[in-house]
Amino acid sequence: MLKISNISLQSGLYIVSTPIGNLKDITVRALSILKNCDLIGCEDTRVTKKLLSSYEIKSKKLISIHEHSKEQKLIFLIEKIKEGKSIALVSDAGTPIISDPGLKLIILAINNGINITPIPGPSAVTASLVGSGLSSDKFFFIGFLPNKKNKRINALNEYKKVNSLLIFYESAKRIKETLIDMFSIFGNRRCVIARELTKYYETFYRGDLNKFKNIKNNLKGEITIIIEPPKNEKNKEKSDIDDEIKKIISFIEKKLSTKDLSKLLSIIYKKPKKFFYTKLIKTIR
Ligand code: SAM
Repeated sequence: MLKISNISLQSGLYIVSTPIGNLKDITVRALSILKNCDLIGCEDTRVTKKLLSSYEIKSKKLISIHEHSKEQKLIFLIEKIKEGKSIALVSDAGTPIISDPGLKLIILAINNGINITPIPGPSAVTASLVGSGLSSDKFFFIGFLPNKKNKRINALNEYKKVNSLLIFYESAKRIKETLIDMFSIFGNRRCVIARELTKYYETFYRGDLNKFKNIKNNLKGEITIIIEPPKNEKNKEKSDIDDEIKKIISFIEKKLSTKDLSKLLSIIYKKPKKFFYTKLIKTIR
């Protein structure tokens, strides 16, 4: 096994990424920080103990930190750093803060002039992105959607027009409902479901939302969903105009002839009357 030496760490807060499944996915620097720091702030102490013991890092003081941790607990950690101690912040898996707790502690540390050092490493966002095979020029990380259906639909509507890949974290229990909602809001976009990355059952499911909306609710494990951006600008503009036309029509239906309506739309959208007339005749009237 790799020997991690004893070193003296500068006091401060170290934000340490840990594996997202496979315990071997940890950097030498992360192990060195975990071995040599004075204290570790973590989520579930049992999860962190398991990681430490697999690298023979013994007798570490662990303090659990979660979203609702009392301010006093955070202040206690800040005071320790001010006394010259080094504290590592980890989460149960991956990179702390990425859909995980710890931000309050970091803000408090910054406000107290404390040195912050990120120790980069695994995250389900980057692992799923690079394995997806989708163009990763631009991506928009969303994390978890709200659990309640109406809030989830509202959130998806907000992201509908974002012109980059969308990356969501989702629980296996909700995957079916979420994919159905995604199909109803985004239409039939390409989608990649990354399951159990870095673990024994690692699987990438690739296809269109249309196919996945029929998925059985029996996927197990950790899941990340990646959705392709809306089609090119031309198609996007066309479907935006279609939506707008439908709205206007439902408003003034029967009050205007198709010809007059085409004229009106051509003024609003600065496009030829014929464009709208054909569309109205074909699809709506
Ligand atoms: N901080 C972590 C990170 O950097 O990826 C994420 C923590 S968040 C509480 C946990 C969610 O991340 C899971 O519900 C799942 O959506 C995603 N996730 C974590 N591990 C994963 C894995 N091995 N494969 C696929 N998705 C994973």
